Amino acid sequence: MKILIVEDEERLAKLIKKALEKEGFAADYVTDGEAAETRIEICHKDYDLVILDLMLPKKDGLEVCRSIRAKKINIPILVLTAKFDVDDKVKTLDAGADDYLVKPFSLEELVSRIRALLRRPPQTIPTVLKTQDLTLNNATRKVTRGNKEIKLTVKEFAILEYLMRNPNQVISRSQILDHLWGSDFDSFSNVIDVHVKNLRKKISNGSRRRIIETIRGIGYRISTE
Ligand code: CA
Repeated sequence: MKILIVEDEERLAKLIKKALEKEGFAADYVTDGEAAETRIEICHKDYDLVILDLMLPKKDGLEVCRSIRAKKINIPILVLTAKFDVDDKVKTLDAGADDYLVKPFSLEELVSRIRALLRRPPQTIPTVLKTQDLTLNNATRKVTRGNKEIKLTVKEFAILEYLMRNPNQVISRSQILDHLWGSDFDSFSNVIDVHVKNLRKKISNGSRRRIIETIRGIGYRISTE
């Protein structure tokens, strides 16, 4: 297993390389975004995974990530980042990263995340999700019901996408919170209910059948049939 490390702090890059080698991985590193993009484009078949820092000289990590995915290169990408809030999280995953780790992190955690990613079967996440006549396109970030385009906020979009990606499953409020806000968020807050209420209003087409069902005391569900 060979891993490409993209990290401009050379001391950290070397530290990660050493830790990976100790665990039996082979590893190379590059220290800027452009070098990373070129290396991945040309040599992605040589690597099993990319560790990608976000703040990089020449080209930032998100741009690198988007451009790799636009070229249909499916290599697992684990993002490293110093600052992180909800919007960063959504942006990072939307850019096509598979997982992320907030700095400072322990090398043990890094290795365990890598192992988890490498165990995952390669998957292509569909860009267009559909439920009844509601369509969500992850690439263009457009949501339509019938022929009508619906404007959603970043968080409404993220909640809808999460529910549509997990159809016929009851998704609890705490799962949504954890997925979109991070587990440090106050879980007694009714923020999810407020977003779902607004989301429902926007996607409703007047029909009595709701797309997002409330499962009392638990959470929400979108059914496909
Ligand atoms: Ca950096």
